[in-house]
Amino acid sequence: MTTNQVPDHHYPRDPHSAQRDPSFWTAAKGRAIDPSVLDRVLQKAAELGPRGVFVFDLDSTLLDNKPRQARIVREAGQHLEEPRLLTCQPEHFTDWSVEKPLRCVGIQDHELEGLVPKVRRYWKQTFFTSEYCVDDIAIAGAVDFVREVLSLGTRIAYCTGRHEPMRQGTVACLAREGFPVPDEEQVHLLMKPELAEHDDDWKVRARSMIAALGTVLAAFDNEPIHINSYFAHFRDAQCVHLLTDDSSRGIAPHPDIPSVRDFRRSR
Ligand SMILES: [Mg+2]
Repeated sequence: MTTNQVPDHHYPRDPHSAQRDPSFWTAAKGRAIDPSVLDRVLQKAAELGPRGVFVFDLDSTLLDNKPRQARIVREAGQHLEEPRLLTCQPEHFTDWSVEKPLRCVGIQDHELEGLVPKVRRYWKQTFFTSEYCVDDIAIAGAVDFVREVLSLGTRIAYCTGRHEPMRQGTVACLAREGFPVPDEEQVHLLMKPELAEHDDDWKVRARSMIAALGTVLAAFDNEPIHINSYFAHFRDAQCVHLLTDDSSRGIAPHPDIPSVRDFRRSR
């Protein structure tokens, strides 16, 4: 499989089921926020010590991909000799849409049909690589929160839809941002063996690997179908949904799962 043929892992299996309304970026939009859950799970971690496990997704949970996204669009601009793309910035991204940032840099509606597939092709070649994922930055409060979890003796499982060839860039990014890095003892990084595996299938398979690490106390994920999966499987764990973005499949988090926007606790 070449990089041009890889499927869209962050997009629906059935693209026709995607909501076409551009304002509809997540079925979780408008959900109540409950940052107090962060204090509650830390209390649970303190009580259980080294037998406890916290599960963290990476993309749009601990890490913000927007710098990577913007770099890819700028570089696509160089390849395509479209100078307007060179001005693309992280704040031009509000979700996984390519059209919105292109409009932000001045691409007109009648130009989108021709340009978007070319940018998307370049995106597919670069986004799922170590070289590019190293550009990600921490979600607000995430570094302090994960470090505090670590200080309580709790095991940490980063469980991501990224595949193994992205390990080097992922670890480099985590280290640069100040997150605990994998040591295969207290900190683990669970990655898909193959890019071709769908994230949904991987996150289900990974549950047994996570359970083997200890007692799951808490799990954090921005993708509703993934946090719902943890919620159904780890019945005693506190599952927390990150209200950042998701794959816009019209799936809402379970009503009993609280949401946070980030990991800042003093608000
Ligand atoms: Mg994610």
